[in-house]
Amino acid sequence: MDDKKLKFNSKTIHGGQQPDAAYGAVMPPIYQTSTYAQSTPGSHKGYEYSRSANPTRTALEKSLASIENGTYGLAFASGLAAIDAIIKLLNPGDEVLSTNDLYGGSYRLFRQVFEKFGIKFTFIGMQDAEKIEGYISDKTRLIWVETPTNPMMNIIDIEAVSVIARKHKILLAVDNTFATPYLQTPLDLGADIVMHSATKYLGGHSDVVVGALVVKDKELATRLYFIQNASGAVCGPMDSFLVLRGIKTLHVRMQRHCENGKAIAEYLAQHPKIEKVYWPGFKDQANHDIAKHQMNDFGGMISFVPKGGSYEDAINIAEKLRVFTLAESLGGVESLVGHPASMTHASIPKEEREKSGVVDALIRLSVGIEDEADLIADLEQALV
Ligand SMILES: *Cc1c(COP(=O)(O)O)cnc(C)c1O
Repeated sequence: MDDKKLKFNSKTIHGGQQPDAAYGAVMPPIYQTSTYAQSTPGSHKGYEYSRSANPTRTALEKSLASIENGTYGLAFASGLAAIDAIIKLLNPGDEVLSTNDLYGGSYRLFRQVFEKFGIKFTFIGMQDAEKIEGYISDKTRLIWVETPTNPMMNIIDIEAVSVIARKHKILLAVDNTFATPYLQTPLDLGADIVMHSATKYLGGHSDVVVGALVVKDKELATRLYFIQNASGAVCGPMDSFLVLRGIKTLHVRMQRHCENGKAIAEYLAQHPKIEKVYWPGFKDQANHDIAKHQMNDFGGMISFVPKGGSYEDAINIAEKLRVFTLAESLGGVESLVGHPASMTHASIPKEEREKSGVVDALIRLSVGIEDEADLIADLEQALV
C-alpha cells in the first residue's frame, strides 16, 4: 500500500503500518525487550538494542511520519525530550528566535537549561511575520514557532515564517501539539521540523507522556536520530503502543473536539458574564484569516475572561465545574479546565504574563468529546 496516496483519515489508521511479520498481528506487539539475539556478532534482524531502535517504537515513528506528511519520525520520552533533541542540533554562540507566548516548559528548557550552554534565545511576538526578519542576526540558527499559542490562541503564519527562514538558511521548527496534523501540517507549509507533545491530542486519552519529531530531510533526520540515540530519551514500547492506538482515532476525536469547541466558544461569547473569549474561529480574532488558510478547522482549545473577574473569581468558576476536570494538560477525550495564572503560567512574573494577555481571571478550557449539552450545562451552572 502506498501510504502517501491515502487521505488523512486513512493515514491515521494505516500510515506506515503492516501486519506483524511473525504472526500477522494487526496491532504491532509491545516488544517489551531491551536487547535482541544475534547469530554472529553484528548479525541480527534489524534490531540490536532498544535505545537505538525497538519495533513498537518504529511502528509509531512510521505512523507519525505518515500523518505529518513527513519522511522520518522520531519518538521521545516526552514532548520536552523531543524539544531538547532539537536544541542539541545547535552549538554555543548560536541564537534562536522563539514565539513569546509559548508553552511554559519550553520557555523553562530554553532559559534555564540551554542558556547556560551559550545558546541565546530571543522571545518575540510573531503574529506579524514580517517583523521577524528584523531580529535575525548572522548567528540565528533556529526559529521556534508555536501556533495556536498557549493560552492566548494567537495564530502565526507558518508559510510566511518559512519564507523568511529559508531566505536566511535558518531551521524552522513548529510545535504542532495544539493543532495536530488533523488541522495543520507544518511540513507542507515549509517548516523543517514538526514537534509534538504526543501526551496531548495524539495519545488523546491522558494516559501517557510521549514526544515526537517529524522531518522530511534525510540529513536532518540522521542528525536527530544520532542525538535521540546518543542522549537516550527514547519512548518505551508500551508508550509507543498507546500513542499508536490513540492516533488511529485522532481524526474522529478531532472532529468532535472541533464541533464541541465551536459550540462552547459561541456559547461563551454570547454569555452576559463573559468579557472576552479567545478562539481562532472567531472572525474578529487577530489573524483569523491566516487560521482559516493554514488550518482545516479551529480546534477545541478556548480561553476566556469573566467580566470584572479577579484571580479568585476565576478559581471559583474552575472549582465549580463538574464535567470539566480541574487539571493541567489538554487534548484528552475528557474536558479539562485550567487557570493559567496559578497553574501553567505561575512561574512567569505577573507583569510579564499580563503583557501577553494572561490576566489573573483568564480561564483555559480543553474541550473534550463528551456531549455538547452536558458541557454547556456545566458552564451554565458555574457561571451563575
Ligand atoms: C505539553 C506540551 C509540551 C511538553 O510536552 P510533554 O509531553 O509534557 O513533555 C510542549 N508543547 C506544548 C504546546 C504542550 O502543550
